Amino acid sequence: MRFDILTLFPEMIDRILGESILGRAQKAGHIAVHCHQIRDFSENKHGHVDDTPYGGGAGMVMAPGPICRCFDAVLRESDPDARRRVLYLSPRGPLFTQDSARGFAQSLDQLILLCGHYEGVDQRAIDEIGAEEISVGDYVLTGGELPACLVVDAVSRLLPGVLADPVCYEEESIASGLLEYPQYTRPPVFRGREVPPVLLSGHHENIRKWREEQALALTRARRPDLLGKSRES
Ligand code: SAM
Repeated sequence: MRFDILTLFPEMIDRILGESILGRAQKAGHIAVHCHQIRDFSENKHGHVDDTPYGGGAGMVMAPGPICRCFDAVLRESDPDARRRVLYLSPRGPLFTQDSARGFAQSLDQLILLCGHYEGVDQRAIDEIGAEEISVGDYVLTGGELPACLVVDAVSRLLPGVLADPVCYEEESIASGLLEYPQYTRPPVFRGREVPPVLLSGHHENIRKWREEQALALTRARRPDLLGKSRES
């Protein structure tokens, strides 16, 4: 899957997505992440990409011209037949969830993500590129770069080849419909805290039951809203 990210801070994104599992997924060709510097499409001799808001108010608004020219350039280098969606990361959008990630992973070849900054983006740019707004949570961040990385990460790990084994994501918190049971590794005793004996027993059925009970108990205590929701995968 191809991700195109329109941003004023491509280095932030390259740094985050170039590391660890997603860095390896890019090298192996399972995903392609292209960051596009919106400032490169400024026609202003100082490279300005923002201006004061019409009607007054605090802060600066990202102007429509550089964003739309940047978007046009992305389309020119994209497969015309790609199944794509265009997202504007924004606290005004509906919440991005595990279901959204699954939907994108299963149905798209390309995701184009526009990152806002400052007070946000001129509405005409959002309308012109046909972007759907999407929020990563009910809080306000300084820019759309971290939200874009979050979306790319959540979608990518559902794509074939990115994780070693689909069980890695099917049995995890939220994706499974429950919160995950506690995990332990060596040593068997750490600062006086013991690994639950059942996990050392080698009895697979008892381990499975213990994990199920723990997952249910945690979900009941912390996220009762998840109980009763049907598992979609
Ligand atoms: N003035 C905007 C508003 O009230 O809706 C907020 C602008 S915010 C300070 C700057 C940029 O950060 C936004 O354009 C958006 O791209 C990004 N952003 C902030 N919070 C976000 C969130 N919860 N989800 C996704 N993007 C967010």
